[in-house]
Amino acid sequence: TDRLPLNFSAGPAALPPPVLAQAQEALVNFRNTGVSVMEVSHRSPEIEDLLAETVERSQRLLGLGDEHEVLLLQGGGSLQFVMVPLNLSGVGDRVDYVDTGYWSSKAIAEARTLARDVAVVADSAGDGYRSVPPVEKITARPDSRYLHLVTNNTVEGTQFRRAPRVSVPVVADMSSDLMSEPFAASEYDLVYAHAQKNIGIAGLTLVVLRRSLLAGVPDGLPAILNYRTHATHRSNYHTPPTFAIYVTCQMLRWLAQENGGLAGTAERTRRKAELLYDFLDTTPFYRCPVEPDSRSRMNVVFTPTCPELLGPLLDAATRADIIGLAGHRSVGGCRASIFNGVSTQAVRQLVDFLHDFAHEHG
Ligand code: PMP
Repeated sequence: TDRLPLNFSAGPAALPPPVLAQAQEALVNFRNTGVSVMEVSHRSPEIEDLLAETVERSQRLLGLGDEHEVLLLQGGGSLQFVMVPLNLSGVGDRVDYVDTGYWSSKAIAEARTLARDVAVVADSAGDGYRSVPPVEKITARPDSRYLHLVTNNTVEGTQFRRAPRVSVPVVADMSSDLMSEPFAASEYDLVYAHAQKNIGIAGLTLVVLRRSLLAGVPDGLPAILNYRTHATHRSNYHTPPTFAIYVTCQMLRWLAQENGGLAGTAERTRRKAELLYDFLDTTPFYRCPVEPDSRSRMNVVFTPTCPELLGPLLDAATRADIIGLAGHRSVGGCRASIFNGVSTQAVRQLVDFLHDFAHEHG
């Protein structure tokens, strides 16, 4: 069975025990250097190798060819809300966004601060963000520089099943679902994922972009904000977050070697989500607000049908050593985040807990 507490936090979130064990080892002795991974120069061959291995592992898992560049950056999803418009458009240019809630709104607001001509070309505000807009209805303005969407909405618990087909570059915030299933490389032009959700840990942000986009980056950007700088310097332009990259590298290795790559991971992701949704759908004591077709496989949002039982449920979870079950502060309710570090067994234990609580209070 799983170690307690069971962690269903939305991020930073659970890491697999073998990855944590390797991280502990590397804190003392990094790859037999006798020093901590935190003490090794980022210009040393060991760290150069680590960066290269992390990029290669990402490329292999995501099925990328030479046309894509993988960058290991800092600044989180929030900095990408800024770097994307800066690198892919100029002042006054048209840029299109899909509004599916909390994080997409932040991306939109940041683009607006940069004096772009921002249009929200599709949204699900009308139903309180309990769904994502039908992907086949999403269109972009023909002269738009890109279309931006958030593929998995961590707060609302909604997820797109595939990319929109539009004639402009597609940019996706995949912070909470990259590396949870095979990546449709041909359908996206730039994606980014901050950590820690499915890969880890906080401090690292993975950016995958089509190399051809680099040529179009406007001149005159501050070097640190320019994707070209980081591509030219192979993600070692300035001191990278070496420990975060080490843990991410071990996480990618774990996904490849112990989970059957992203195909195996997708199978596991699907099974975990099914366990929870099937239980919630067949137990009238609980309710899932999200439209079934839009449900996230990463963040399962639900509430007790009787709202007065929310507080007691969260208290009982705390007593049972289950953490991270409260919904995002902007929406309330409950949310179980079941990223790659959460085992199927942990999800079964959560279902047992929810079942027992319903039995006692139903
Ligand atoms: N995008 C999504 C989908 C997220 O879930 C989050 C954070 N949970 C962010 C962006 C923001 O990332 P950061 O905190 O690294 O800026």
